[in-house]
Amino acid sequence: MSKPLTALQFFTQFPDDETCLAHLFDVRFGQGFACPSCERPSKWFRIKAERAYSCQWCGHHLHPTVGTPFEQTRTPLQLWFYAIYMFTATRNGVAAKELQRQLGVTYKTAWRMAGLIREHMADVDGDLLLGGAGGRIFTPPASINGSM
Ligand SMILES: [Zn+2]
Repeated sequence: MSKPLTALQFFTQFPDDETCLAHLFDVRFGQGFACPSCERPSKWFRIKAERAYSCQWCGHHLHPTVGTPFEQTRTPLQLWFYAIYMFTATRNGVAAKELQRQLGVTYKTAWRMAGLIREHMADVDGDLLLGGAGGRIFTPPASINGSM
């Protein structure tokens, strides 16, 4: 297991939501990923209007957040990543109250985030998410597996 990032390293690696989304895309799919729709290895283009990438051949959309805890959330990705960072940096768990304070979100949001992160960290190594050591953090959704 690698050493947790420092806060400075974290913000250097993930300065905004866009880099977080790009990281999620890279660890889950990556350039050259075979399109689930036309089945051709594709270059994927970022679609600015949504959190999605588009196939160079058929325009099929891939959503890196689908099938992750970030799918149904309005909370910025960077805050999620930072929350996960906090969990990986402490190892002892992080109280919702602490997330609320550090992220500047409501207690309700912090509580939900903490719950989802705990749930997913049981089988997910947060270091992989942040370190991106070629690992898959979240298994791709069934619809993608099923169509291949
Ligand atoms: Zn395609």
